[in-house]
Amino acid sequence: MIAVTARSDEIMIAPSPRLGFSLWIRILRVIMVTVFFLMLFVPQTRPISSMVFWLSLSLNVILMCWGMFLPNSQLFGFVFHKGDPDRSTVALTFDDGPHPDSTVRILDILQSQQIRATFFVVGQKAELHPAVVQRMVFEGHEVENHTWNHPATLAVFPLYTLKRIVHDLDRCNKMIRALTEREPLFVRFPAGIKNLPLMTAAKRLNLVVAGFSVRAYDSAGRVSAERIRTRVLERVFPGAIIVLHDSYTRTGRQASTPTIEALPGIITCLKEAGYHFVTLKALYNPVSEGQSLPGSGV
Ligand SMILES: [Zn+2]
Repeated sequence: MIAVTARSDEIMIAPSPRLGFSLWIRILRVIMVTVFFLMLFVPQTRPISSMVFWLSLSLNVILMCWGMFLPNSQLFGFVFHKGDPDRSTVALTFDDGPHPDSTVRILDILQSQQIRATFFVVGQKAELHPAVVQRMVFEGHEVENHTWNHPATLAVFPLYTLKRIVHDLDRCNKMIRALTEREPLFVRFPAGIKNLPLMTAAKRLNLVVAGFSVRAYDSAGRVSAERIRTRVLERVFPGAIIVLHDSYTRTGRQASTPTIEALPGIITCLKEAGYHFVTLKALYNPVSEGQSLPGSGV
């Protein structure tokens, strides 16, 4: 039996999550720049200088890896990865869709449970399955940007110029706009990987970079529905952003059957624990919570 608790929903207006962008990140950035210049200007001739060089290089590599591969690391810029901990709200998010079978079955579950979720769609797949994306919006869900074609090598600097990344993200934005008549607010990069060009591109398009706080690893190989359910319920907390997948592969051929099987149990347990499901936008800006959307049954 998994114990899931939520704190009472007493505070009506939460402070902006941007206030959580902490001072120590800025300090780390200063350290990175300092060690970089140390590497450049300390002469390499004497043993002590050589040691400083290699220590600086190692520190910079560690910091770069931390900034790139930790989904919620703020080293390269702000990442929204959790809401107000004083409100018993959580955001359910789905990546890598839409899928003509999985996403529709997930929408059916969300409709029967009367909750809203957020879908990070791949632009190329959205173009193939426009009716599924339109149903998301019609039923009150949010549709956000998960790149045009979900490139696995997005984090590798030399392969993608800033211009190419901006084009890729904007192409997905345009597809979402065309299908939903709504402006995307968030982008989530594949696997939560970030680097400076990606963060710069997001900023240029006025997109907030979304991270996540509860990961079920439901797209990583053969994982059972029970394991997915347990992972979510063990890790959830007030303000959490839960990430699941409505499609498992880049091409979208494989339906997310274990996720679909796990979903009703996850929703029921969290509801019983006192959690309210909101979209990512509502978690980011609680004032927008409760705004009804046309045609939504939720
Ligand atoms: Zn993805």
